[in-house]
Amino acid sequence: MLILVLNSGSSSIKFQLLDMPSGELRCSGLVERIGSPNARFYLKTKDAEVDIKKGLADHKKGLAVIADSLMDPKLDLLQAGEQIRGVGHRVVHGGKVYSATVRVNKAVKDKIKELASLAPLHNPNNLLGIVVSEELFPEATQVAVFDTAFHQSIPEKAHRYAIPNSFYDKYGVRVYGFHGTSHKYVSEQVAEYLGKIPSRMITIHLGNGCSITAVKDGKSIDHSLGFGPSNGLIMGTRSGDIDHSLIFYLIEELGYSAKEVNQILVGESGMYGLTGFKDLRDIQKAAAKGDRKSLLALDMMNYRIQKFIGAYAAIMNGLDVLVFTAGIGENSALVREGVCRNMDYLGIKIDPDRNQNPQRGIWELQSDDSRIKILIVPTNEELEIARQTYRLLQ
Ligand code: AMP
Repeated sequence: MLILVLNSGSSSIKFQLLDMPSGELRCSGLVERIGSPNARFYLKTKDAEVDIKKGLADHKKGLAVIADSLMDPKLDLLQAGEQIRGVGHRVVHGGKVYSATVRVNKAVKDKIKELASLAPLHNPNNLLGIVVSEELFPEATQVAVFDTAFHQSIPEKAHRYAIPNSFYDKYGVRVYGFHGTSHKYVSEQVAEYLGKIPSRMITIHLGNGCSITAVKDGKSIDHSLGFGPSNGLIMGTRSGDIDHSLIFYLIEELGYSAKEVNQILVGESGMYGLTGFKDLRDIQKAAAKGDRKSLLALDMMNYRIQKFIGAYAAIMNGLDVLVFTAGIGENSALVREGVCRNMDYLGIKIDPDRNQNPQRGIWELQSDDSRIKILIVPTNEELEIARQTYRLLQ
């Protein structure tokens, strides 16, 4: 069964075409800089690449280019009689309504629209992708896969903020959590790999955005991102946890507007604010040359992650498995080593050689005398969206 996965952002649409249930990737690609005369369409198959620049006025034009290429006989992506049966859409915010993947109907679209107040940068674009896809793939079932869904199992004591009840009751102010598709995918991969669901696991997603989840018996029970995707760990350009009195200081004493403060904390902080680099590879290079700012930023990043590991081990009464995933988690031996340093009180001991030389796929990093399994588990959010779409269409 052919499933198209769409991740529709403000000026880009990423896509993958997968044959399910095998998960074989027919092609992947993106359109970016939608709305500019310089938009780019890129598609990659097993044996071909298309990379063109042309004006794409809006999402409809962007998605039409994707649809045309999928049908292009030269690219040979669809065999005779084959058609796309389902389109799985990444939707960032499902509020407290959606704890599972759903078929899209009018009520679902209305709800995604309503939830835009909680995710103004994401939900409107996700919805636009759905609406355009309904027009371009009328035969296919449209399916919404929510980033927040996996974290709906977080209990009330962990998902509530200690602010007046009315904000929760009236406006739904609570921890929602994000990156749920990734945390769910890697925790299920671990269960499959170990042949059982681990009782106490921590999954650490370290990419441009970073988050950490306490996964008890396969369910998310606490998570570092909260009402919005800015809390917790230090990220590429986001500060993670700060004391909220800082926000009032910036506004009331230093004269910044609320909008400017948001831009500072979300777009100019994190590793970028500390070093001037957004990409961890540049920070590692600078640190290797002794750059003090980069060394400190790496120390701060690891320190914050260690604090969360300690907290989550505490709430789960111990730990069995620690998982690293996403761009940094899968690729930075330096960060993995830093995170696991001096954690032997918890039974976390990394093997330096295994950490330096990981093989593809799931890879064990712990030393022989580590009580905790430490794993790299490559994430694959698109495959997870395709799987969930496939399951719903069965
Ligand atoms: P993601 O959001 O999962 O795509 O992760 C993107 C981030 O992963 C990049 O901004 C880099 O900081 C980081 N990254 C990717 N490759 C490497 C690498 N080989 N070493 C260190 N960091 C990496």
